This record gives sequence, C-alpha cells and structure tokens, in this order.
Amino acid sequence: MSSERTLEPFDASDEELARHLEDAELPALLLACAMLTRDPAVLDGAPPPMRGLMAGPNGGYEEAQLTDARARCLAALKRYRDDGCPEPTRPSEEDLRGLLSFVIEEERLDEFLPFLLDELSLDGSDTRAPKWKKSELAPDRDFRVAIIGAGMSGLCAAIRLQQAEIPFVIFEKSHDVGGTWHDNVYPGCRVDVSNHFYSYSFAQGFEWPQLFSTQPILLEYFQHVADAFGLREHIRFGTEVKRATFDESTGGWSLELESEDGTSDTFEAQVLVSGMGQLNRPRMPEIEGMDDFGGPAFHSARWDQSVDLAGKKVSVIGTGASACQLIPIVADQASELTVYQRTAPWLLPTEDYHEEVPSGLQWLYQHVPFYAEWYRFWLFWSTAEGLLETVEVDPNWTERKDSVGPLNEEVRQMLCEYLQEATGGDADLLAKMTPDYPPFSKRFVRDNGILPATFARDDVSLETAGIDRITEKGIRTKDGREIEADVIVYGTGFTASDFLMPLEVVGRDGRKLHEHWAGDARAYLGITLPHFPNLFLLYGPNTNIVVNGSIIFFTECEVDYLLASIETLLRGGKHAMDCKPEVHDEYNERIDADNMKRAWGAATVNSWYKNQLGRVSQNWPYGLLEYWKQTREVDLGDYELL
Ligand code: NAP
Repeated sequence: MSSERTLEPFDASDEELARHLEDAELPALLLACAMLTRDPAVLDGAPPPMRGLMAGPNGGYEEAQLTDARARCLAALKRYRDDGCPEPTRPSEEDLRGLLSFVIEEERLDEFLPFLLDELSLDGSDTRAPKWKKSELAPDRDFRVAIIGAGMSGLCAAIRLQQAEIPFVIFEKSHDVGGTWHDNVYPGCRVDVSNHFYSYSFAQGFEWPQLFSTQPILLEYFQHVADAFGLREHIRFGTEVKRATFDESTGGWSLELESEDGTSDTFEAQVLVSGMGQLNRPRMPEIEGMDDFGGPAFHSARWDQSVDLAGKKVSVIGTGASACQLIPIVADQASELTVYQRTAPWLLPTEDYHEEVPSGLQWLYQHVPFYAEWYRFWLFWSTAEGLLETVEVDPNWTERKDSVGPLNEEVRQMLCEYLQEATGGDADLLAKMTPDYPPFSKRFVRDNGILPATFARDDVSLETAGIDRITEKGIRTKDGREIEADVIVYGTGFTASDFLMPLEVVGRDGRKLHEHWAGDARAYLGITLPHFPNLFLLYGPNTNIVVNGSIIFFTECEVDYLLASIETLLRGGKHAMDCKPEVHDEYNERIDADNMKRAWGAATVNSWYKNQLGRVSQNWPYGLLEYWKQTREVDLGDYELL
C-alpha cells in the first residue's frame, strides 16, 4: 500500500456524472476540479467554504450555492472526460497557493502553507519519509531500536525506521497487530474520527466502506499496513517487555522480556520507543460487592465473546464513548438493559455516523484525480484548529457555569437543541441526558439519534440514582432499589494517566520512571524526558487532542521527531540524548497554563483527561500546526548529548 492510488479513466455519461456529484463534498471537489483542469476559473465567484462544527462537510453552503458548485464541477469533469481523461500535470507551488487561498484566509496562508503542502502531498509522494538512510550516515555503526507495541504508533515508527534502514524489533504482547483495534471487540466498536483522516498519510490506498468504520475494518487496515510494509517479520508476538534499564556504559537500553510460556530473554537496543498507548489498560471501578455478583461480568475492552446476551438482563455501567457504542447493540440482544450513568456525556450530532461511504463519493475517489487528496485535506483543514476557539475560556464569562465563554455557550445551546429534538418531548429523559458541565470538558460522544432512541425503549432504563453496591443478583442503587442483572458490563474506561504501566523503566543513576513521575507523567513534547535518554514516547503525556484533528497525525509528528533525533545521533557520532530538565519543566509549565485556558482544564467535572492530582495530563491545548512546527526539527540546545 502506498499513498499512490490507481485511478481509472472514465467515460460516464453526463447523467451518471451528475448522479455521482450528488454525493460529493463540494469544497474538496471544486479544488480537485480546478487542479485537474488547470483552470482556477472553476473557483471564480464560488463562495469560500466555512470551517467548523456548524459548517459540515459542504462548508456551510446553502442549497443554491451547492447547486452552483455542482454545476461548476460537472462542467469541469465533462471537459476532462471529453479530453480523454489525460494524465494530470502536477501543480507548481504558486498554483497551489492560489488554490489554497480559496479555503484559507490570505493573511494566514504564509504561516500554514508549508504545513499544508506537507499534509496534502499532492505529488503522490510520501513527503514525510526520512530523507536519509543509516547506510549513508553511519554504515558501520551497530544501532538498533526496540519498539514496544504493534498498535497504530508502533507500526508507524517501524515504517519510518525501515525507510531509514535502521534495524528494529517490535515487542508485542498479543498475537496480532492493531493495539486498541485488536483488543476492543465489543459490539458496535467503531472509530469516531472520519476514516479518511484517521489513517496514515502514507497509506491511503485503502477503500474504506464506511465513513466511520467498525473495529474489524480498522483492524484489517492495520493488518494490511503491517503486511504491505513487511513488518511482521520484525515483530515478536506474545512477548512482553517487563523491564528496561538504561546502560550508562553503552548509552543504550537493556530489555528484560517475558514470553507467554514464561521463558525470559534479554535484548539490547540503542533507542527505546514506547508505542504502549493511553487507552488500553481497563479501569475497573471500585464498587462495593463486585466480587459478590453471581453472573458473568467483564470490561468493554475485554469483551467475553462466550457470553450470549440474548434474553438476558444486562447492566452496563458507564456512558462514555465505549459504552455508548455498545448500548444500542446490547439493547437489541438483551431482554432488559439497565444503563448506569454517573455523568451524562455531551452528544455531538453526527448524522452520517453509521453510514456507508456513498456510492458517488466512492466513484469520485476512484476516478477523479486529486479528489481523494483534497477530500482528506478538507477534513484535515476543517479540523486543524477545529473547535479550539469554542473551548477557549473567557475569563470574563460569568453567565453560566456550564459553559466557559460565548462561543462555548453557542455550542452548548446547539447541543441542547439537538438533545431536545432527539428525546422527542420526553422531559424526564431530556433532563437525565443533559450534561451540567461545559461542552468539551469531557470527551464528547458522537450520535446519530440512536442513543436517545435506545434510552427511550420500554426494555431499556437509564439509571441516574447512583450505584450503592453490587450484589449477588444485580445492582443496588443509592435510593435503595435492587435491579436484577444476569450480566454486568463495565464500560468504565481506562487508566489513561498511568503511562507506560506496568513496565519498569530505570534511567540514569538508577532513577525509576514511575517513582520519578509519582503519578504525574510529563514529557517534553510528550516524547522525551530528562534522566531517561534515548527513550521516546508515542502518544505520551499531553499529546491527546479533543476537538481537532486525528491522533494519527500526532503520531506521525512524534515519529518524525524520533527519526530526526536518531539522525542527530548518527550524524554527530553520539550515543544518547537526554532532555535538559529546564527545557522540560518550562515546556510543561506552558502546557499546564494553557490547558487551564481550555474547557477541559477549567471545568471541575471529572474526566480521563486529568490524572489523580487533577492535572490535565492528557491533552494538547493548541492546534495541529503548533505541534507540527515544534516536532519538525530537534533543537540540539534542548538536549545533553552523551
Ligand atoms: P470513559 O470515557 O472514561 O468512560 C467511562 C465511563 O464509565 C464514564 O461514563 C464514567 O462516568 C463511568 N464510570 C467510571 N467509573 C464509574 C463508577 N465507579 N460508577 C459509575 N460509573 C463509572 O471511557 P471509554 O468510554 O472507554 O472511552 C475512553 C476514550 O477512549 C474515549 O473518550 C475515546 O477517546 C476513546 N474511545 C474511542 C472510541 C472511538 O473512536 N470510537 C471508542 C471508544 C473509546 P463519569 O463520566 O462520571 O466518570
């Protein structure tokens, strides 16, 4: 698989073309058509599309504007077809600048242009691939990298290392690749970021059947990538890294490994990369009586496929993203479903959440040069800063406690209107489902109407009285009722703040990582940390994004930084690099201060974004451009070189 797509020339009739265009996302198609025909006039007079939550995929175009945009695209595609679908020429940077000015304000173009060209990659090349190889920099040097985890991040690092001809081994405790998409097999599990964006920039040839695909398809994608890049032979499955110790004499890491059969082994590597993720260690709640329950009970991320829910009374604890995906499916299987909600989630209306990719859209990907690239770009650009301004805390905002500023309030009202409509006049349900905290201070849940409809069913109840204890036969609520259950599902989330647990990591001077962090994990750029040289974290502290972009984009930035660091070591003939404490501390102070200016930092509602000390240890408070800029190059002044 590569970023190159094979497009088929087409001779579709005018009527067929017009039908395909009904499914097009027009800002992207207008740009593709202007580029394809090398005729910027396609855009002349077309209104610049808006970005953001309210604008939607068609940039907020009104009906007449949509009709006009379709007509422009139809004319351009007819011309292209009648010319025999010639091989399109690649545009110059100046041409691209002109096209981008259709979607980006002139005054911001200079700032964003290099970043967007990198992401857009219209020449079909993998722009972010390393531009060097070990054989050119240090052919005789014994240098290898150990990666922990064959999930999304670990695979990404492996691909880039392979391109730079750096030897590497991935240690994966399970038996396949995919990480979270391997572990989470609960019914209804699907990605809640658009697929065409939640995918590697360099592996775009995959035909996504759905807009937000289900877990088996996501798993297939990562399996495909692993196979296409020949990664499996570098992966030691069924092997857990138990302990990693920095070796002062070699400036590298010694790993202690344990296989499933209990055998132990060791491995030496110059660089250690954690692709262990944040959302993979299930959090079981501390509820009295959990051991008393007589029936099967399991966590959403450890779904027990042997338990048939048909005709059973099922209790689901939690209403986060995982629980809300499985609840509608379980409701169809169980005889009765009781959902225990502690905090209502904000629902983000997403009409096409469960939709297949429409046939017209699929046709456009397969036939219209540049459409796929512009489509991904449009998804990317419309979420690059996404809703950041709507989560900004206005220090003078005193109107309400369930919003943090005027724009956040606008969103709150819009989400409330959605809830009102979706609960169809059921005042009791509306009251239960309406959060009392600002939007986006906790992770939102996408909804196409199915969740309120499920809660409205006669055989489903949404319990908000609170759980007193679990009994042998079910769950007792705080208001003294005992509700029977045959099966309990814990949709209670993950210990996201316990980064790198349970791995024991020993850095310089025998410093132990988890004692050093003391429950408050921090890192510089989320990647490196003082006293632990040559340890690189992927999806580390403060690299989670809430309202903008895709976590895969972040991982690609982190991996670029990893490769730039290795290049530095190889070029400079150095063993290791250790982040300077003052650089790390100053960076973290800034992150902390700026997270407090976001809804998730200012609001007091509990969430997995915060660690046990109440610090936002997960989230990145800025836009994507900022992270891309900060991770493009390694500033040698930030490190002590050993
Ligand atoms: P979560 O967001 O942490 O939700 C856990 C739920 O369990 C919350 O509703 C929580 O209530 C509840 N809970 C925890 N302990 C409880 C207790 N003792 N009593 C009652 N309720 C309790 O976890 P998640 O749903 O697994 O999602 C975690 C993250 O994973 C998501 O935010 C998302 O980033 C990611 N995810 C993504 C997808 C996707 O892309 N499709 C799917 C699933 C998950 P409180 O809110 O009161 O704490």
